[in-house]
Amino acid sequence: MIYYKCEIQEISITVISAVNYNELNLRNPEAFALGATVHDKIIYPLHKEPYAQYVVCDPVVELRESSVVTRKGEEIDFDVCVIATGTRYPYWLSKDEETIEARKKFIAEMNGKILAARTIVVGGGGPVGIEFAGDVKANYPEKRSSSIII
Ligand SMILES: Cc1cc2nc3c(=O)[nH]c(=O)nc-3n(C[C@H](O)[C@H](O)[C@H](O)COP(=O)(O)OP(=O)(O)OC[C@H]3O[C@@H](n4cnc5c(N)ncnc54)[C@H](O)[C@@H]3O)c2cc1C
Repeated sequence: MIYYKCEIQEISITVISAVNYNELNLRNPEAFALGATVHDKIIYPLHKEPYAQYVVCDPVVELRESSVVTRKGEEIDFDVCVIATGTRYPYWLSKDEETIEARKKFIAEMNGKILAARTIVVGGGGPVGIEFAGDVKANYPEKRSSSIII
């Protein structure tokens, strides 16, 4: 998530992201369970970030002493570099799709599988598993139980 405001006009901030969208993780399991009705509310194009002065949607492939190089070959100079590349989540939580269109398509396809399923088993009873099982049960009460394997 990128929420910041640079009050000092002399400082230029460039945000570089591997993907061209932002997606609110908090409601990610719900979006997976319910599809576009929820997903469209939690995903938006990165260029709409209100406070970023420069947004580059292209993964960094090389870090040099005072610049980074993106996959497309753009070299971006810096005085200070903050590396905030996050953590990796398994499968659908991990946002591997590089464009907003591809991410929407992926979530819609996953949601289609949920809708088509008669029974659902959730492997893992942590917060994400419990939340997802609850979302499915609350929204599709006709489905046979979401078993949770802890
Ligand atoms: C389902 C779920 C629910 C959650 N709920 C909560 C909650 O309720 N409260 C809470 O505090 N936290 C919650 N979290 C955790 C929270 O979302 C993460 O801790 C937070 O997103 C981490 O932020 P970050 O900026 O470190 O990394 P990320 O949000 O992962 O951002 C990393 C960014 O780096 C980019 N990047 C990666 N590699 C490169 C590269 N080579 N070049 C350029 N860019 C790159 C990625 O494209 C991405 O934009 C939840 C997470 C999940 C999955």
